[in-house]
Amino acid sequence: MATVFSDLSLDGRHARLLIDTANDAVVSIDHASVILDWNRTAERMFGWSREEAVGRILTDLIVPPQHREAHHRGLARFLANRTPGILNRRVETTALARDGREFDIELSVWPVETDGSFTFSAFLRDISERKQAEAAMRRSEEKYRQVVENAYEGIIVSQDGRLKFANPRALELTRRTLEEALATPFIEMVHPDDRARVYGNYLRRLRGESVEPNYIFRSITPAGEVVSLQISAVAIEWEGRPATLNFLTDVTEQVALARDLKETLAEREAVLETTAIGIMFIQNGRIKWINDALEKTMLGFDDGETIGHTGEVAFRDHADWSRFLKACIPALERTGTYEGDWEVQRKDGSMWWCHMSAKALDPTRLGQGTIWFFLDISARQRAEEEVRRALTRERELSELKTRFVSLASHEFRTPLAAILSSIELIEDFGATLAEGERGELIRTIKGAVARMTGMLDQVMLIGRAEADRLEFRPEATDPAVLAAALVRETEQAHGTPGRIQLRVRGTSAPRLLDPKLLAHVLGNLLSNALKYSPSGSKVLFELESAPASISFLVTDYGIGIPQDDQPRIFESFHRARNTGNIDGTGLGLSIVKHCVELHGGTVDFESAPGQGSTFLVCLPDPMP
Ligand code: ADP
Repeated sequence: MATVFSDLSLDGRHARLLIDTANDAVVSIDHASVILDWNRTAERMFGWSREEAVGRILTDLIVPPQHREAHHRGLARFLANRTPGILNRRVETTALARDGREFDIELSVWPVETDGSFTFSAFLRDISERKQAEAAMRRSEEKYRQVVENAYEGIIVSQDGRLKFANPRALELTRRTLEEALATPFIEMVHPDDRARVYGNYLRRLRGESVEPNYIFRSITPAGEVVSLQISAVAIEWEGRPATLNFLTDVTEQVALARDLKETLAEREAVLETTAIGIMFIQNGRIKWINDALEKTMLGFDDGETIGHTGEVAFRDHADWSRFLKACIPALERTGTYEGDWEVQRKDGSMWWCHMSAKALDPTRLGQGTIWFFLDISARQRAEEEVRRALTRERELSELKTRFVSLASHEFRTPLAAILSSIELIEDFGATLAEGERGELIRTIKGAVARMTGMLDQVMLIGRAEADRLEFRPEATDPAVLAAALVRETEQAHGTPGRIQLRVRGTSAPRLLDPKLLAHVLGNLLSNALKYSPSGSKVLFELESAPASISFLVTDYGIGIPQDDQPRIFESFHRARNTGNIDGTGLGLSIVKHCVELHGGTVDFESAPGQGSTFLVCLPDPMP
């Protein structure tokens, strides 16, 4: 029996062994396709034992029906005219196993001629697994190819400064054919202004350094058109060498839109900057944008200094700011708008009046932003303030007049009555009156006139004070000398010499004081102390000169001031209810207060009814 190894110089036993242990199935047939040999591997591969296989027609046993005819045709052709067909080369085809399974095999067949007749030997290898792996690979490659080919992003591989791969979208973006793209150095496709950056990033990426993950550069098409591309790249290995894999997205439109937006915003900002109205935009409670008119001109800050701060920068203190928030936030939430006048503060601490109006972008979410307009209304406010003050003064003066009329009608009646009766007595009995009696009547008249003159003086003085026409005219004055003179004058006027005890403490240098105003202050206090205390009791008058201030204390042990009257004691025409028939106009202390305030000082008192009163005047020295 001819076998494939019949022409080799191996003995039959060895050849059998080799064939049986071969990894491939080894099958021999004769010219009529009758199986002559069938090794162990063939038994395993096809499921037929050697005994079963040998003698059977090969095509019936393992050739799938669709290949059978071709098999017979090829065999016949070879036998007829030696056409080699599939002989002597590797062929991939399929075979049938006993269980009907058709599987891929690799086949090589060669003819062996023995004594003029041919047998054919074949090596058959099961390649179904390899085929399956190949198919899977093809399928997955196809999937990737589909993704890459159809990706909306341009995908390129760049190596040594040239493109090694570009998908259709990348070619579309660079406006080049594949040949052109592969032939053009990549950097030439980049706008000259962006080349340094792109090249720098490329080198850094290859060196493994950190690079911005994606950025925008301008690419130039062959026609000179500029296309903005966003690129994100990673370093990869391509055919065993370093390269970069790049994804490109066309962002030309976005870039143009962003530029337009920026220009529009810049134009708007220029308009907002040049207005005289202060404007700012608050977001999440902080200043996001503010124009120069508000930041620099109105609030006195440097450019951009207030950005990121809250509006509190424009308020005097936290309490004021809280008051403001309490007013505006509910209004903004309710109506989306707010208007109000506030006194705000410049950086240097000076205050000005401002009309604010605000609009919320979304009243339900104030954090989104509110737009604020500031209008300087200091001038208007000042004018209003002046009108208000003038009106009050007018009212006070007319009140003063009314009260003066009532004072005149009451207080002048007594001295006038005294004068009249004295004159009548002199008229009727002038000739018969004793010298002493006439003198007494004349003193009564003089006293009444003096009281009326005093009252008129006070009325005039308070009139001037209330009309802001009293002036502070300081001159070098020795307070101790002035005090001593006033003690004398007051005692004389009251006809009670020696009741006032003057004590002077501290430095005695002259001070800058207004002696006229001070005379009104001390004269009234001393006169009250004498008036409202028993004629036998003492009055203490203490003067203390400290380097920066002077204090005067007037203490009496008289009727004191009832608690109820104490709060109103400095009001014009107010007299306490315990004054009885002691003369008075209720103007003295009001004059005291005006004069002390013109000095920039304070006046205070302590008093208990029936025990006495102490009045304290403190004057700062204008030139300590
Ligand atoms: P008057 O002309 O009535 O004294 P003043 O303005 O000087 O007016 O004082 C107002 C009122 O204050 C007085 O009417 C009196 O009731 C009370 N008063 C002022 N000084 C004293 C004092 N030393 N002792 C008690 N009461 C005083």
